[in-house]
Amino acid sequence: MTKLNGNKPLDRNYFRYKDRPKPTDEKEITDCCGQETERDILNVNNKEDWLLIEDYIERNLREYSSTESITPIVCKECGRLEEYISKLKFNRKLPGDK
Ligand SMILES: [Zn+2]
Repeated sequence: MTKLNGNKPLDRNYFRYKDRPKPTDEKEITDCCGQETERDILNVNNKEDWLLIEDYIERNLREYSSTESITPIVCKECGRLEEYISKLKFNRKLPGDK
């Protein structure tokens, strides 16, 4: 049986479970967003975690002037952080432009 590759993000789990089966114990994976419960994932319901998320975004905005905003995408059920989506400025003038 051949599987079609592509059209999906290759993350750390992809490589971690590439050569061995994924754990089947249901308790280890959250029902809502499929994340491992043992992993230390930032959660917006946790005030300290939210401060870390804010800090991360603030640092990135300061460091990369081409970034207009960063959206933390979180699980609507449990609040675990899934990814950051950066919005870039495309109308930025390059040095030398007139
Ligand atoms: Zn969740």
